[in-house]
Amino acid sequence: MKKTALITGIIGQDGPYLAKMLLEKDYKVYGLIRRYTNPNFSNLDYLGIADKIEYVSGDMTDENSLTNIIKNVNPNEVYNLAAQSFVGASWDQAKLTTEINALGVLYLLNAIKNFTPNAKFYQASTSEMFGNSHKAGIQTEETPFHPRSPYAIAKLYAYWMTINFKESYGMFCANGILFNHESPIRGIEFVTRKITDGVARIKLGLANEIRLGNLDSKRDWGFAGDYVEAMWLMLQQEKPDNYIVSTGETHSIRDFLDIAFKHAGINDWKKYVKLDPRFKRPAELFTLQGKSDKARKKLGWKPKVKFEELVKMMMDADMERLIKK
Ligand code: NDP
Ligand code: GDP
Repeated sequence: MKKTALITGIIGQDGPYLAKMLLEKDYKVYGLIRRYTNPNFSNLDYLGIADKIEYVSGDMTDENSLTNIIKNVNPNEVYNLAAQSFVGASWDQAKLTTEINALGVLYLLNAIKNFTPNAKFYQASTSEMFGNSHKAGIQTEETPFHPRSPYAIAKLYAYWMTINFKESYGMFCANGILFNHESPIRGIEFVTRKITDGVARIKLGLANEIRLGNLDSKRDWGFAGDYVEAMWLMLQQEKPDNYIVSTGETHSIRDFLDIAFKHAGINDWKKYVKLDPRFKRPAELFTLQGKSDKARKKLGWKPKVKFEELVKMMMDADMERLIKK
């Protein structure tokens, strides 16, 4: 019999990559989407799978909708990727961020506990929970958390609730502590995609600047297509656990700009990048760099796409997209 997976956040960045991988493994894939007047399936279309998903309508803030979905779908695996995922917006919409990213996870876990307690549960946890603990060295599963945004605080609640359902009810609940991961379908307001889209526009004469905030931040950037494999592997283990998923390298936004502009044939990016305080955050997270030894050893996972390749992949995709328009 086919395995059944339910993915929340199906139309975001990771949902489509995960769904594609599960479809290739012959899963039946259900995707939770909110109700829209005009739904946007472009990320699923980009991967050519929009018509291969069974869509179910619900919302992470509506407990009853989640309960009904779990009852009806009766999934073997649940991947909770839905979130208000933009750190920058989380100060302005802290309550909504908490309702979706924290309470929504509690609702989903309760529904699983009551109706499909044997389903395996994956929670999309984040390196943002570490805050600035990089001062103490590269981050591991043992590094203490110090969340620095309403987004990260809500995610920390969900992280512990996931562990609590495992410990209290013996459910299979795993946390993937994923470091930043990007792709050609990354949300446009995230710094990587903002840069590749902006550079492509400059190259094509459609724009003459990119406005950015803090250029000194460093991130451990990997490729989303590689990271969804780790999510799946976590649910194939005998016991649930928490794993860091990262490349182990860290690069600054300046490094990203260097590669993106050079790839477009522009050598001096400083002429085109304007600093804009609107894109600075009330509390910044300066450096993220994760040690994913546990995932590499226990899951047999490792990232395939290197930093430079990732930047070029995103640049090429944005150039192509804009040329086609
Ligand atoms: P995206 O923002 O691209 O996707 C999140 C999805 O969640 C969107 O499709 C969004 O739908 C959906 N969503 C938001 N609110 C609700 C709601 N109330 N009910 C139902 N669905 C909702 O994120 P990514 O794919 O990049 O990330 C996936 C998960 O991994 C997220 O939880 C994110 O926080 C986490 N994560 C991501 C990292 C990264 O670098 N990408 C790093 C670490 C963790 P809509 O279009 O309706 O808004
Ligand atoms: P995050 O790590 O999940 O917050 O991912 P982002 O891509 O949103 O931000 C990564 C880093 O880039 C953060 O330190 C931001 O402060 C920094 N940054 C600098 N300028 C910008 C900008 O214009 N937009 C975004 N999103 N981030 C920026």
